[in-house]
This record gives sequence, structure tokens and C-alpha cells, in this order.
Amino acid sequence: MTTVRPTLAAVQQQVAAAVARAGRTGDSVTLIAASKTIPAEVIEEAVAAGQTVFGENRVQEAMAKWPALLDRHRQIRLHLIGPLQTNKARDAVRFFDTIHSVDRVALAAALAKESQKQGRRPECFIQVNIGAEPQKAGASIAEVDSLIAACRSEYELDVAGLTCIPPSGEPPERHFTMLAEIAARNGLKCLSMGMSQDFPAAIECGATHVRVGTAIFGKRAA
Ligand SMILES: *Cc1c(COP(=O)(O)O)cnc(C)c1O
Repeated sequence: MTTVRPTLAAVQQQVAAAVARAGRTGDSVTLIAASKTIPAEVIEEAVAAGQTVFGENRVQEAMAKWPALLDRHRQIRLHLIGPLQTNKARDAVRFFDTIHSVDRVALAAALAKESQKQGRRPECFIQVNIGAEPQKAGASIAEVDSLIAACRSEYELDVAGLTCIPPSGEPPERHFTMLAEIAARNGLKCLSMGMSQDFPAAIECGATHVRVGTAIFGKRAA
């Protein structure tokens, strides 16, 4: 039987090594296990191996898969890392501890309305389209400062930091560094950046949250 225990341990070690190289403290990076398409029994193995923070891409998939797991494991924190439609804001606020994909005013408004209704205020990250790619979600670099300001003052969201997915096929460091600069000038502490391919580099550029799927769970079926 295969198990995620060794791959998870290897990723944890690579995280620790990158943290040490960057001269940062041991607890400064949160490893989010990106579990989209991964079945509950495999997630159970990761939980048994000590993983407590998981990321899902789709609200609907998460709501089908996670209630039973969360019942059994109260320590788990669930992050939404995929794009969020405004009409799913209610479920997202109800279900997730952290939302990494706030990228427009209409979504911020919907999340604010639901937060107020539900008395629940998930931590939010503003997603930036750091490589200005037409097919990718995220606020443009030009508009991100005003979106951050609106999320804070107008919508009173709990804005923790910024998220990005750099363009594939080019060195990511320049994009990671740019995201860190945008966060710094806005007084934001958290940076959600780095996936299986590039999480050590992201940590060296200041990532506080890395989202790692394939390196833990193996290649996803399609
Ligand atoms: C799937 C996904 C990840 C993890 O990607 P891997 O390359 O499998 O590590 C991270 N972030 C987001 C937004 C994703 O959709």
C-alpha cells in the first residue's frame, strides 16, 4: 500500500531547509496540503501523519468531501485556494477558515455581506495576477492597492496577505519578490506563494503559506 507519509515528510524537510536557508524561524511557514481531487481515505493518511492544514480549489468538491473529515478531526484548518464565484460566497464563508482568492470588489462585497450575516470572518488573501496573464484570476498590479484598501476599510474583511501563481515556464523569483513588495507597501504580513515546483524558492522570497499538492499526494488523475 502506498502512503503519503514519506512524501509529506520529504516536503516538510524541504520546507524546513528553505526556512533555515532564508534565516527565518521554524514556524514562519504554513504548509497547506493541496488536496483537490484527492479522496478522503488518502487525506486521512495525511492527517494521521500530522498534517492539519488543507487547501481545496472548489467549494462544491470541498463540501462533499470534508464535513465527515472535519467531524473526526477538529484540529483541521481548511483553506480555499481556487477561484471563487460570487454566488458561492455564502458557502465559502461558512465552510473555510481562510480564502486565498479574493480578487475583485464584487467578491469582497459578497464576502462582507455573508460574514456579517453569519457572524463568521474567514481570513482573506488578495490574489494578484502577478504575471498579467489574460487567462489567470487575480487583481492586476495596477489595481491591487485600491482593492486592498477597499477590502479593509469599506468591507472590513480580515485581510491577512496576498496570493499569487507566477507564470509557468519562467523563473518565479521575480514574481515572488514583486508580491512581497506589494505586501510590504500595504503593511500585509502573509504571502501565499509557492507550489510543488517552486515552494523552496518561494520561501526564500518570503512565503508564509505554501500550497503543495503533487509533491505530497502524487500526480493527480487529469
Ligand atoms: C493545485 C494547486 C496547488 C498545488 O499545486 P501542485 O503543483 O500540485 O503542488 C496550489 N495552488 C493552487 C491554487 C492550486 O490550484
